[in-house]
Amino acid sequence: MNISPILAAIALVPQPAKLVETGGVTKNAEIRYVTDSAVPAEGYRLKVAADGITVTSSDAAGRFYAGVTLAQLKDGNSWPCVEIEDAPAYRWRGAHLDECRHFFGKETVKQMLDLMAQHKLNRFHWHLTEDQGWRLDIPGYPELIKYGAARSASVRHGQRATKGSKEDADKLNGVKYGPYYYTEADVREIIAYAAERHITIVPEIELPGHVFAALAAYPEFACVPANLAAREPRLVWGIEKDVLCLGNDKAIKFMEDVLDYVCRLFPGDVVHIGGDECPQVRWKDCPKCQARIKAEGLKDVHDLQPWITRHFVKFLEARGKRALGWDEYLLGDVPKSAIGMSWRTRPKSGAGHALVSGAQAAVRGHDVVMTPNKFCYLDYGQCLPNDPFQYIGGKLPLETCYSFDPCADVPAEARKHILGGQCNNWSEYTWNEYDLAWKMWPRTCALAEVFWLGDAKPGFADFKRRMATHRGRLIAQGVNCAPLE
Ligand SMILES: [Zn+2]
Repeated sequence: MNISPILAAIALVPQPAKLVETGGVTKNAEIRYVTDSAVPAEGYRLKVAADGITVTSSDAAGRFYAGVTLAQLKDGNSWPCVEIEDAPAYRWRGAHLDECRHFFGKETVKQMLDLMAQHKLNRFHWHLTEDQGWRLDIPGYPELIKYGAARSASVRHGQRATKGSKEDADKLNGVKYGPYYYTEADVREIIAYAAERHITIVPEIELPGHVFAALAAYPEFACVPANLAAREPRLVWGIEKDVLCLGNDKAIKFMEDVLDYVCRLFPGDVVHIGGDECPQVRWKDCPKCQARIKAEGLKDVHDLQPWITRHFVKFLEARGKRALGWDEYLLGDVPKSAIGMSWRTRPKSGAGHALVSGAQAAVRGHDVVMTPNKFCYLDYGQCLPNDPFQYIGGKLPLETCYSFDPCADVPAEARKHILGGQCNNWSEYTWNEYDLAWKMWPRTCALAEVFWLGDAKPGFADFKRRMATHRGRLIAQGVNCAPLE
């Protein structure tokens, strides 16, 4: 689109879908709000003219996003005269935060929510439980915090350790980490803060794998309780073999109690139940798990995860919530109401389609949020010269983020199932809020524009030009935004 030097100097991110400059500027800050049911959900029309500003929307979110655009348009004490017609391409525009490997706390979460709102992101996926830490106080289960919220050591800054081998032990720092966790009052405060910014929180409680911190609190819920003798979360990164014993009714009741509380605490419509990277080796040798397989008429250990997924999809549905999980949890016979969060980019066999796993799920009729690691994992390297921060691996420069298409590889007839996308902030190698901000920004700006504009995004050169100005806006707020290249 052709824009004047005035607007070029202002730079909107994400760019609105349609923008026409009507000429000149105005200092008239009087805003008139109009409701029009014809405006799409979360969309708005914005007219800035000499006689004032008119905002038209069908809902409160649209009105809010018009305000976000107005704030970016403001130049000193005036606005350029424009007419904007804008609405999101995708309804799920998310950002995720892993608070388990490293904990960031309430103030960082609030700043993240502020910045998400400024980029019209509307889902905060809060990763609260892991092998390395349990971060949510659950009534009736005090041991979760007592044993699950602190580690006696962590991987030393700058080191890598994932196996728990003797060599890995030398890479631990010996410094107590935590206890770090959120109380109910903290969570309620953050929910309210997010709601004011039209952001829905999606809490994640991992199951049946990635539960080692919970097992540290309640070793009897593991297949081999003796493996939890140290009574503390996993100290190194990587995938833990000790998972929830699915042959133990009390272990399942524990997860039900946790999820029942989570359903009551969080007002959002979706609860994430993990489901990724769950080794089956303990189930294989566990008499209780084998008895479960027999009693339920399952074929073998491969059927156990779909069995527990079906259970919790229905459990959440009975509480008015939809289940969301990493794409592995959709393997096997699982209700179509379960939403997938696709993080893998390599084609997987088994569904009869040479597609990425998220696309396969969409073809089978599941709604899917696309978060493929090659485009959306912000713990991958930015490829900046002399980057002082450590990454988990991989390469994800800004331009690659911007090239992301959530519907790539998805057949046309299945695209209605693609809810949107999300940037994921895993924190094994992200130690603090400065490190986190550097990895999030400006790459989150690129992904936010992808989720807002879809195919209508104007191209990387245009984005980069606007981003050069927009970066100053982030830095002025104290955000440790990385350079563009
Ligand atoms: Zn077991």
